[in-house]
Amino acid sequence: MTRKVAVIGGGLAGITAAIALAESGADVTLLEARPRLGGATCSFSRDGLTVDTGQHVFLGCCSAYRGLLDRLGMTEHTTLQDRFDVTVLAPGGHGGVVPPGAGRAPGANGQPRKARLRRTALPGPLHMLPALGRYPFLSFAERMSVARPALAMRRVDAADPAVDSQRFGDWLARRGQDDRTRRALWDLFSVSALNIAGDDASLALAAVVVKTGLLGKNNAADIGVPALPLGELHGDAGATLLAKLGAQVALSTKVSAIEHGAAEPGQDGGFRIRLAQGDPLTADGVVLAVPHEKAAPLIPAGALPEQTVAGWAGLGASPIVNVHVIYDRPVMDLPFVAAIDSPVQWVFDRTRISGLNHGGMDRRGHQYLAISLSAADQYADTPAARLREQFLPALAELFPAARDARVAEFFVTRERRATFRQAPGSGALRPKAATARPGLVLAGAWTDTGWPDTMEGAVRSGLTAAAELKASLSTTGVPK
Ligand SMILES: Cc1cc2nc3c(=O)[nH]c(=O)nc-3n(C[C@H](O)[C@H](O)[C@H](O)COP(=O)(O)OP(=O)(O)OC[C@H]3O[C@@H](n4cnc5c(N)ncnc54)[C@H](O)[C@@H]3O)c2cc1C
Repeated sequence: MTRKVAVIGGGLAGITAAIALAESGADVTLLEARPRLGGATCSFSRDGLTVDTGQHVFLGCCSAYRGLLDRLGMTEHTTLQDRFDVTVLAPGGHGGVVPPGAGRAPGANGQPRKARLRRTALPGPLHMLPALGRYPFLSFAERMSVARPALAMRRVDAADPAVDSQRFGDWLARRGQDDRTRRALWDLFSVSALNIAGDDASLALAAVVVKTGLLGKNNAADIGVPALPLGELHGDAGATLLAKLGAQVALSTKVSAIEHGAAEPGQDGGFRIRLAQGDPLTADGVVLAVPHEKAAPLIPAGALPEQTVAGWAGLGASPIVNVHVIYDRPVMDLPFVAAIDSPVQWVFDRTRISGLNHGGMDRRGHQYLAISLSAADQYADTPAARLREQFLPALAELFPAARDARVAEFFVTRERRATFRQAPGSGALRPKAATARPGLVLAGAWTDTGWPDTMEGAVRSGLTAAAELKASLSTTGVPK
């Protein structure tokens, strides 16, 4: 007999676990509440365009996520930089206030100030030094001050609870990083990686980002972007592979309860899975791969201490907002840029990926930009009209060509619970994959992966959950 396994939740964690378990010969059913796979990485159609609800990027060091892309046959549908290379813009000239300490960045006559952070081929952590040494948005003294915390970070143990309880901003300030340095340099990476205002992030999670991405191998922080809409890259490709592996995928199937000890009459162990609609399912093993606030009410009694499950509420949520703007002409000539001294954080050219130019003649030659706003608490409930008033002038400050361009379309997507709130103390609230119930394991980017709430974390959690479940089933006497 083959083991029957139910994977609940079809995000990257659930897809990964389902693939790994199906590959090991289990009879897998993936249950997903929504009508598509992919979870937080999803796309929708709008007026002939394919829109991702939120721009996603990955890094060269995301080995597990890149392994999933390979398994899905999707690596060629992403673009990974051959060298970390980020252009950073700031309003300049009459357009923006040049803050004190802004250094020697040019920017007269309404032109934006511009910097390029490009790594060298030197081994890490030396690879970033030349670019940081020239970074024009910091004064000479500020640039020199960056080496101290960067090197000190190598000794920070992300697994130490005392580290998890500290704020990244306080730790940086104690190491000579003034407000300007934290905003113009550290925030560039920590806010988008951790989806929380840089000062407020957990030092432990910031340490993972800095140590892996900036102090590790020289290609660790090279940036990868999808070249296909996320729905195709993960959801459709995941469904195709799972079908090939013989797994069942049940979409629009919401699980309402997991009951223990009721798989088959006369059989010890197993689970009965109740659905919001339709007949219940039975399974020998369950991977619960839903967000933490959805997992808490589904955990059967006794599987984890009540305190542990109640503690997940403390993980909270942090929003990401994307502001989508279609201009009647190209205004940005790079695939993406970062911005400082501006409400704009990162901007991506979505023209090709959205299929914009395949539409009617009226959109030919247009450019589609998406501004990705992390830690977007202040924008999550702001009406689109107000965001338009704020962000169109901000884009015009950064891209002079936008000043004469016509805005053909403007819309906003909001993911209010994009990630958990990666604040101090969150590490202690993240559970391991294994539970006290043999045959029941947890997955999800919010579980204790050691990584931030990212695609890499989700895939790692799926792999860990699958391995735990296999080990658990092999010792529970469930027949193979
Ligand atoms: C706007 C945005 C931008 C982001 N940008 C990046 C980025 O640039 N890089 C990066 O690495 N990460 C990014 N992330 C984070 C990344 O998307 C997540 O960490 C990851 O996708 C989480 O995957 P998951 O499988 O753990 O959870 P989810 O994707 O949330 O999947 C959980 C699934 O469970 C389903 N579910 C819930 N309840 C039930 C139920 N009762 N029954 C059945 N199914 C259920 C849900 O419908 C969902 O499909 C971003 C997230 C957002 C929202």
